[in-house]
Amino acid sequence: MSKYFPVIGLEIHCQLATETKLFCDCKVEVNTLANKNVCEGCLGMPGALPVPNKKAVEYAIRLGLALNCEIDSKAMWARKNYFYPDLPSGYQVTQIGLIPELDHPIAKKGWIEIELDDGKTKRVGITRIHMEEDAGKLVHDLSPEGSHFDANRCGTPLCEIVTEPDIRSPQEAVLVLQKIKQILEYTGVSNANMENGNMRCDGNISIRPSEDAPFGVRSEIKNLNSFSNLEKALETEILYQSIALDAKQPLEQCTKRYDVVKNKTVVIRSKEDALDYKYFPEPNTARLITDPKCIEEIRNTLPELPDARRKRFIDSFDITAYDAHVLTIEKEVSEWFDEAATKCKNPKILANWIISELLREVKDLDGGLSSVKMTPIDLANLVNLIEDKTISGKIAKTVFAEMLETGKTPDTIIQEKGLVQISDPVAIEAMVREVIAANQVQFEEFKSGKASIKGFFVGQIMRASGGKANPGIVNQILDKIAKE
Ligand code: ADP
Ligand code: MG
Ligand code: ZN
Repeated sequence: MSKYFPVIGLEIHCQLATETKLFCDCKVEVNTLANKNVCEGCLGMPGALPVPNKKAVEYAIRLGLALNCEIDSKAMWARKNYFYPDLPSGYQVTQIGLIPELDHPIAKKGWIEIELDDGKTKRVGITRIHMEEDAGKLVHDLSPEGSHFDANRCGTPLCEIVTEPDIRSPQEAVLVLQKIKQILEYTGVSNANMENGNMRCDGNISIRPSEDAPFGVRSEIKNLNSFSNLEKALETEILYQSIALDAKQPLEQCTKRYDVVKNKTVVIRSKEDALDYKYFPEPNTARLITDPKCIEEIRNTLPELPDARRKRFIDSFDITAYDAHVLTIEKEVSEWFDEAATKCKNPKILANWIISELLREVKDLDGGLSSVKMTPIDLANLVNLIEDKTISGKIAKTVFAEMLETGKTPDTIIQEKGLVQISDPVAIEAMVREVIAANQVQFEEFKSGKASIKGFFVGQIMRASGGKANPGIVNQILDKIAKE
């Protein structure tokens, strides 16, 4: 561990889940023919006029409200000029904060809460959320003609979320990114899939000698595309900065990337080569004036957010904070549990089944939980059958496996396979006496006080009953006969 104290702030880019682009009607579509969804507007041809996408604005406002931000009803567009082969227009339309007169991002001054290991919660400030358009994509496919350009992504709507430098460790940074990803999914604002690149994160990090020292010089690590890369990149950079400070080498503010293979952060550019984007107000679009009534309407239609859902699960289903946390990480899982729990006699046991059995199986499935054949109600019923003592926990595992494979209901499987637990004392006593008759010597030892041999008898009887005898009753009857 480094003796220094890290300070971290994140910039998170996410693609909004709209059907069309930010300033034109072209479709947002991945994995399609290159340059299929383009027009004069998103190709940046002179004279084409942008029309902001209402749905994108609505999503950005929804996100701002879910992150407890103030919404700017007079947001402003700015032009960020730079040349790059994936940007035909030569500029990106965005909302920036560098020039005070232009500083009208759609949302600012919000916060989220993360849950720390010690059970406490911590608030992390959201500085701002701004909207912007994405660039196209260069395809380096090693063809002899050179690289290709695909403009399908040009003009795709993005939101950038900037946090305050309130984060104090790489682990906290992961929790912040996780929470924001969850909120993006719960609100439906973005698919927030890091593997598909529709969510990525830049980590800003500096270190200081004590918790109340002024902030140190930061580096910004670009384009981290998984939780583990974020954590590893920040850890590596802490180490790098610590070694420099120990050696009394001054740090320089810079932009870096993370090399996963070498586990190293590599400088892309230093402050001196910072680009001058010559920002100015976007002349082709007016300010984005939103009626405050619309903002309130969006606020009123916000869905239940992850924190609220987690608390409700703890309160109404009496499950542990940890289980509630695991069950709400993904919206789909939380909905699955919610539906099952309302039909289940023991939501605590249900939570165990989902966490330790179902989610483990789902991990290896392509389509995730939605591709599972078992319905929430069927799993609730399986737990109910254990609760009623119709089947044992052990048999339930067999039924569960069959439910996963065939999608049949637990009742059908139990009927078909004759798996109902035997709890009738008369039937069980007959089985017990049979086993005793076949193992006279061992039974005498048991009677004379050798308690350790009881397990042998329970095992024999369970086997004789095909696992169906109720083990509690088997035990009682064994004790009763031993006293005869
Ligand atoms: P830039 O455009 O230079 O990236 P932004 O304002 O977009 O600047 O983002 C700055 C990010 O860096 C924010 O997330 C902020 O919390 C973080 N940050 C600012 N100062 C520090 C610091 N000294 N150490 C770590 N992070 C910092
Ligand atoms: Mg930045
Ligand atoms: Zn277009």
